[in-house]
Amino acid sequence: MFDGAFFRRWLAAAAGAVEREADRLTELDSAIGDADHGANLKRGFAAVTEVLDKELPETPGAVLVLAGRQLISTVGGASGPLYGTMLRRTGKALGEAGAVTREELAAALTAGVAGVAQLGGAKPGDKTMLDALVPAAEALGDSFAAARDAAEAGALATVPLRARKGRASYLGERSIGHQDPGATSSALLIAALAEVAAA
Ligand code: ADP
Ligand code: MG
Repeated sequence: MFDGAFFRRWLAAAAGAVEREADRLTELDSAIGDADHGANLKRGFAAVTEVLDKELPETPGAVLVLAGRQLISTVGGASGPLYGTMLRRTGKALGEAGAVTREELAAALTAGVAGVAQLGGAKPGDKTMLDALVPAAEALGDSFAAARDAAEAGALATVPLRARKGRASYLGERSIGHQDPGATSSALLIAALAEVAAA
């Protein structure tokens, strides 16, 4: 079972990964966006870590709802409201339970990812974060490692796609041949989850 402290460790690990990989995320966003994805997420996840350390929410649901709210209020780019919605919806789906199973998290994350699709109007294949998140949520039903691998494969598979949503879609054909920044950061977030689950 995974309790609130586990979810705080996940988001702290995610913040560390975003911090370490911020330059790469920004580089990817400079190719098909506006070169702010690394900075956006660095600011957002630093704020998430800060508020979680201060308020120490106890349940998994409370951790994710607070983190999501913080991302929405601190990140200006499209990714803030999208990731914020994902975490909030996932947290709401987990309810008030003090600890949850991987299967329960997989179902909740599926609801959270559906929230991203609803807010942004994208679907898999549109070259967005959903290309990593949708397969990851599905594979989480099998294992944390399978979710990590599915997210990574999904991010890599965005390279040949043409962007149909978000800023990169303005480039049309020229978005082809570049890895999507949001799918790349999604793979980092899911890898952080697998890492803390294995620790
Ligand atoms: P912005 O595009 O506002 O500068 P970011 O650079 O932080 O925001 O995030 C860009 C990422 O957000 C993209 O790489 C893509 O994965 C994701 N994204 C953008 N629009 C959408 C959308 N409508 N649905 C899902 N993901 C999206
Ligand atoms: Mg950007």
